[in-house]
Amino acid sequence: MIQVAWYKRDLRTHDHHPLVEAARRGPVLPLYVIEEDYWRLPDTSLRQWSFIAECLGELDAELGRLGQRLVLRRGSVTDILDALHKRHRIAGLYSHEETGNAWTYGRDQAVGAWARGHAVPWQEYPQAGVVRRLASRDAWARHWERRMAEPLLPPPERVSGVREDIGDLDWLTTLRGYDRSPCPLRQRGGRAAGVALLESFLSHRGERYRSDISSPLTAARSGSRLSPYLAYGAVGLREVVQATRLRLSRLRSPTDGAWRKSLASFQSRLHWHCHFIQKLEDQPDIELRNLHRGYDGLREGDFDADRFEAWRTGRTGLPFVDACMRMLWQEGWINFRMRAMLAAFASYHLWLHWREPGLLLARLFVDYEPGIHYSQLQMQSGTTGINTNRIYNPVKQSLEQDPSGEFIRRWVPELGPIPDGRIHEPWRLTAAEQRDLGVVIGRDYPAPVVDHLEAAKAARERLRRFRQGRNDLRIESRAIQARHGSRRRRGRSGVAKGQQRELPFDRD
Ligand SMILES: Cc1cc2nc3c(=O)[nH]c(=O)nc-3n(C[C@H](O)[C@H](O)[C@H](O)COP(=O)(O)OP(=O)(O)OC[C@H]3O[C@@H](n4cnc5c(N)ncnc54)[C@H](O)[C@@H]3O)c2cc1C
Repeated sequence: MIQVAWYKRDLRTHDHHPLVEAARRGPVLPLYVIEEDYWRLPDTSLRQWSFIAECLGELDAELGRLGQRLVLRRGSVTDILDALHKRHRIAGLYSHEETGNAWTYGRDQAVGAWARGHAVPWQEYPQAGVVRRLASRDAWARHWERRMAEPLLPPPERVSGVREDIGDLDWLTTLRGYDRSPCPLRQRGGRAAGVALLESFLSHRGERYRSDISSPLTAARSGSRLSPYLAYGAVGLREVVQATRLRLSRLRSPTDGAWRKSLASFQSRLHWHCHFIQKLEDQPDIELRNLHRGYDGLREGDFDADRFEAWRTGRTGLPFVDACMRMLWQEGWINFRMRAMLAAFASYHLWLHWREPGLLLARLFVDYEPGIHYSQLQMQSGTTGINTNRIYNPVKQSLEQDPSGEFIRRWVPELGPIPDGRIHEPWRLTAAEQRDLGVVIGRDYPAPVVDHLEAAKAARERLRRFRQGRNDLRIESRAIQARHGSRRRRGRSGVAKGQQRELPFDRD
């Protein structure tokens, strides 16, 4: 008889309830299943798998030290459980609850049916602060606080083993049909790298977090960069919250003001992490449909493939937008503000429905976390009904976040010779200036795919017309606010009483 600790997006031994419970009950088989069908989905990619594989390598070593190496299998989870059950008899299955995409939801239902059919008890434990079958958002923040304050669980002292072939990590390179776009500058996976980032963030990198996270030039250093480690659970959210609180409690000097403000902002993000995932947990179809169904029909009929292609390849002719997209292809990460701008530019200026752009971004993000991703995408596309619509001006963002054009030059080198002040709008250079600089718009770099000011104006007008006379939209928005909205007060936000709006963007 064995206990199976089934690993999913929780690739650690620290603060790992399923592993601890399984180890208490007898010989444990820690299992990770490489699910081929998952890796063929349009929101998954090799860069994510490569990060996970590095986490699995470390997890295997850590479990080996505890007494039982990680068992890797390839295929469908139910087939694999079936085979293990025949060989060893599974006494119990232990895992974390997963708030994933529709595919993993369906797979979990199949596993549930398998477990019931074979009388194998399946014990699932909450991940971080997301609450399954949440009755009301009213008490959610209290739930979150309680969970975050629970003591961290140390790894079991020993995981007594099971004789089983270990399996092989390399096979994905032989699989066809999944996204293989190279990502040479992506973050390395594994718990050690995540813990090192947490330590460096709390000891020195995080001091300027609050002022630095909006610019792609500074956010990479001053942001925590923990997102992929949190997304695949190499580092647990509770560990990060508790380490941050400990650090905050030790800030006593009057010169610690910047630290205090930065760590308070950082803590809000850790809270948002679960706040956004909770939305997908409560309403899984937001991966596929507008959160506010009253916005159905806003963009569905208008998909322009050429505009999408320009955006996808970083060739819109708007240097700052293109620089962000090109960075994402190479690094698999970009800061929040730039993700929001990319999504909003696709939705408003290019008037593309969020689904296709959202799938591309999901594949490009190493840290793809469906609950955050789809909630944010919809928020940046104006289809939630509870968020203020924010149409980012890409030139204003460029001037504010990259005044000297350093970031643009790094990612769009063909614009390199253009002087600082002119690089944000190269289409304004005269023909003679273009010739002198050796950068001809339309030849060396595209002309803008849209006039961004006109496109933003047109988007506002479309939205206005769509909403005109639609009292039903307002009624539904109130229901969405009650179901998904934050209950945190936002001070003088100008929001009507009883109609508290959702969280702000990248400011507290
Ligand atoms: C369109 C869009 C899609 C996004 N998709 C993802 C995604 O798939 N995976 C993902 O982890 N983040 C996503 N984000 C949120 C955010 O951009 C990233 O979490 C952040 O940039 C990661 O960098 P960091 O770890 O340095 O963040 P930090 O600023 O150091 O924040 C610490 C952690 O808090 C959480 N967090 C930060 N900002 C947010 C936020 N706005 N909403 C919810 N949680 C937040 C993340 O877990 C992050 O790792 C998305 C944002 C947008 C606008």
